[in-house]
Order: sequence, then C-alpha cells, then structure tokens
Amino acid sequence: MRVIDVHTHTWTRDIISKKDIETRRIAAERLGVNPVLDSTIESLLDAMNKSGVDRAVVLPIDSGLHQKMPLSLTEKTDYHANEVADSPNVVTFVGIDPRRGKTGLKELERAVKEKGCRGWKMYPPNGFYPDDKEFDPFYELCVDLGIPILIHQGFAPRFKHVKYARPVYVDRVAADFPDLKIILAHVGFPWKDETLMIASKNPNVSVDVSGWQYASTVPMKIYQMVADAKIMRVFPNRMLFGSDYPLFEDTMPLKKWVEFFKGLQMPPEFTDQGYKQVREDEIEKVMWKNAARIVFGEKV
Ligand SMILES: [Zn+2]
Repeated sequence: MRVIDVHTHTWTRDIISKKDIETRRIAAERLGVNPVLDSTIESLLDAMNKSGVDRAVVLPIDSGLHQKMPLSLTEKTDYHANEVADSPNVVTFVGIDPRRGKTGLKELERAVKEKGCRGWKMYPPNGFYPDDKEFDPFYELCVDLGIPILIHQGFAPRFKHVKYARPVYVDRVAADFPDLKIILAHVGFPWKDETLMIASKNPNVSVDVSGWQYASTVPMKIYQMVADAKIMRVFPNRMLFGSDYPLFEDTMPLKKWVEFFKGLQMPPEFTDQGYKQVREDEIEKVMWKNAARIVFGEKV
C-alpha cells in the first residue's frame, strides 16, 4: 500500500526564531522527550525511506508578523521551495499569515506560480480567525489557483492562542467557498467532534490525522476518532494520513505510525457495540488515494 504523509515540517535552528526554539523546549518537556531543534530535508527523506512513505508535504508556518524571524516571508518560501526541488516525492506548501493583506496575496500567487508550492498552510493560533471576511480574497485566489488550504486546528504550543484554532471558525469559509479544498489538521485534536461536524456538513473539507500519535499509549482514543469519523461520513473519503514529522518521533516514530494506520482494525470492544469494521480499501484511501486526489489533483 502506497503512503502519502500530508503533514510534515522541516526547519533548522537558523531559520526559526528564538521564541520558537524556546517553544520547542517547553513542548518537549511536556512530552518528556528531547527537543527537536533541527529537522532537515535529509532526515525527512531518510524517515520516509525507512517508513515506507512514498510522498510527503512540507508545511512552513509564517510567524513573521509577531516574531523576529531570521528569514523574510519570501526568503522562507524560497528556502522551502529550494529544499524540495531535488526530491520529486516531497512537495511544499507556502506559509502565509493572511493579515499580511496584499503582500500576502502577492506572495501566495508567486509561491504557487513561480516556486511550485502546492498549497497554503494557514496557522490561526498566531492570532486570527479564519472566517474574517478580510481574508476572502485569499480564499478566492486559492480557488483560482486550484490549490488546497491546510489549516492548523486544535492543540497549539505554549505561546500561541488556541481560541483561534477552533474548527467552527472554518465553517463560514467552507460554506461560502464550496470549490475551496480545505484540510483541517490533526482532526482538531482534541476537538474531534467539532472538526468532524464541520467536515461532515461541508463536502469540500477533509481532515488529517497527524498528531494522534499523542494517544498511541491509549489506542482506543484513535479507534474512537476513526469510528466517529465513519459515522459522520468523513472516513473513508475525506481523511488523510499525516504525521506532523518530526514532532512525535520520540512518542511514536513515523514507521510505527504508518504501520499502525495501515493495519488499523476496530477491536471487538467496538464492533461488539455495533461500530462497523474498517476495510483495507478504506484504509488505502486514507493512506494514499484521498491525498493523491485532494493535494496532488490526481484522478484515483
Ligand atoms: Zn504541524
């Protein structure tokens, strides 16, 4: 079974802010693991190789409006576009804070048309609600360019504001822009019910499962998430595999996460209650086909 990981990150300590480094230290401490201060394209490629991941999407975040960043917005776009340039199986989105207005719109168009970025990564915990009408020109542009938006949802690090990451603030956008492809990251962890509701009512909305490795010691939580997604008709056609690599490598390495999801079976505790068993062809949609269609525009 082929695998696409729609949610990975690369950086080095030279291109993130001092605040970001501190954030990573705090996050690692909370998880009881070592902070990852560098995540190079080489380490991503190596992990993909070892884990049987055929393609991956890199998701840069634009924190430049409220943090002093070593790279400007365009330099950051170019950095990520260049790092994936020699790896046909890895693509990058562009990270833009939509409060940048016209500058952001210009950069979105440049990133897609000139630098080959395949989508837009939006990070609301930096301080904005996605359904602000001021951002509608961004959504119109994404429809025109035919690219998806992947929006961070749910749990956010220490210095970010989690109220902006509530899935309900994506609903107005999804409803008003029916041709816009939206991916809600992390199935909104831990706000999965709100996320699944938004995805369920809006056929243009999908979810990615990255970050659920957090619950790997209590896999019942993951089964419950998939079971609920199935009831809400989000699984199997609008759920995408993702890892948030490298953030959970010490919790559950990519290889293990891939194996877990590939082999996912509802345990008897679920099927006995009436939850339907998942089939291999449904899992194949999550691991490959949905992302091939939604992110890569392929007919599968
Ligand atoms: Zn992420």
